[in-house]
Amino acid sequence: MALAAEAKRIAAEFDYSTEEVGKGVKEFIREMDEGLEKQGATMSQIPSYVTAVPNGTEKGIYLAVDLGGTNFRVCSIVLHGNQTFSLTQSKVAVPHALMEAKKAHELFEFLAKQIEIFLKTHHNDKFEAHRRRPSQQQYLDLGFTFSFPVNQLGINKGKLIRWTKGFDIEEAIGQDVCALLQKEIDALNLPVIVAALVNDTVGTLMARSYTSPGKTGTLIGAIFGTGTNGAYVEKLNRVKKMAQIDAELGSAAYDKSTGLMIINTEWGSFDNNLSVLPDTPYDRALDAESVNPGIQMFEKRVSGMFLGEILRRAILALYKHQDENIALFKDTSSADNDTSSLTTVAEDSPLYKQWGIDTSFLSIVEEDASDRLRITKQTLEKDLGVSAPSMEDCVAVKTLVHAIGKRAARLAAVALGAVVLSTNKLQEDDLVDIGVDGSLVEYYPGFEDYIREAFREIPEIGVEGEKKIRIGLAKDGSGLGAALIALTASKAE
Ligand code: ADP
Repeated sequence: MALAAEAKRIAAEFDYSTEEVGKGVKEFIREMDEGLEKQGATMSQIPSYVTAVPNGTEKGIYLAVDLGGTNFRVCSIVLHGNQTFSLTQSKVAVPHALMEAKKAHELFEFLAKQIEIFLKTHHNDKFEAHRRRPSQQQYLDLGFTFSFPVNQLGINKGKLIRWTKGFDIEEAIGQDVCALLQKEIDALNLPVIVAALVNDTVGTLMARSYTSPGKTGTLIGAIFGTGTNGAYVEKLNRVKKMAQIDAELGSAAYDKSTGLMIINTEWGSFDNNLSVLPDTPYDRALDAESVNPGIQMFEKRVSGMFLGEILRRAILALYKHQDENIALFKDTSSADNDTSSLTTVAEDSPLYKQWGIDTSFLSIVEEDASDRLRITKQTLEKDLGVSAPSMEDCVAVKTLVHAIGKRAARLAAVALGAVVLSTNKLQEDDLVDIGVDGSLVEYYPGFEDYIREAFREIPEIGVEGEKKIRIGLAKDGSGLGAALIALTASKAE
């Protein structure tokens, strides 16, 4: 009993009240506005130069490539114009040597070669026709999803700010990555135009808008995967900093006729100074020992990369409790312990290693409705090297998991709710559509339900407003979404 009470006490530290949700929404809207007004705000609010969302009637064949980490994906997408599409794709690992190449040319030549192989394999007719007699008609527009920090200067222009995720090619920094890719494509004489530089959240928004039923386009594309971020449709005249960006950075011309601009919020850095975000000892320790203390504070409480680590720290606190009668995994004689063997934690248990618990562990435990939490027990044994945990141990772990997962979902609701309110869409439309992607929102049981519960608690949304919000999975942001952005870009030329 003592263990259960202590687990509940720790879980309560993760409570995120109705009042806090309300405060969070207010601050989120304030930071959104600030980001629209000036550069260098906490939330970057980056203009994507995409100025319209699709409605499902778009047609044509497009290419999309995605460089986001270890793999490079190439795909072609045929848009059927009736909200459906077909997708052909290939994937190769980027050789390690190229990630740290001396010259940018070496990496981008490799990427162009993969596009050539893809064309030869899947679109040889176009490839051969172009060889015989080059003509503008044979060209395919390509959307380039490039998941590294870039200064976007136009729909197909963006300068690399810095590499992340193990890439390190000094020479490429400050260069336009679309031009780098186009140069290598041209050197191979491929009928391909790099038409758009794509952020994955903008891709998610576009993909959802193409496939989702209904006349009103999608408002938000949001990712809750390894990281978290969102893009939304903003009114161009509210993007006050646009004039300054155009003047200072020499942005390319873009289509202003729709009066809209899709904004990549970069909400992972919402409230980096912790004025409204919850902050437990476990959050603080995670941040202090991370590679970027004080940065991406919202993401560190919400996304898949971090929830397992928060849980690990909370479990350790309970395991290391001074009072042996309370501590986790110390049960030896409880009647509940059906194995009647000693509970032990392996010396090399992932519990002792930073990042030792994957967020999929939380999904498994949250979902467990088995008799005597058998599945949780097995998972503790298999994944965390805890032998013979008691029923009480399993219940305590589940209590912690639930608290951490629910808080993440309620924080997600702060971001989504704030965007819904700041755009005034609940007033303007009958339905507000949100596309989401990422393993956390896809697999964590009840994630959407907790988001909705929090929506109802926000006075400006309430029960009626929540009913008007539709949330749906949007897969393939970097394929379908990138293709749709390439289409938008080619139309604007
Ligand atoms: P990415 O965001 O990298 O494109 P994903 O959307 O698959 O890819 O997210 C991966 C993240 O999701 C990892 O941090 C992983 O720990 C977490 N994750 C993987 N499976 C699950 C799951 N079943 N439930 C919750 N989180 C998961």
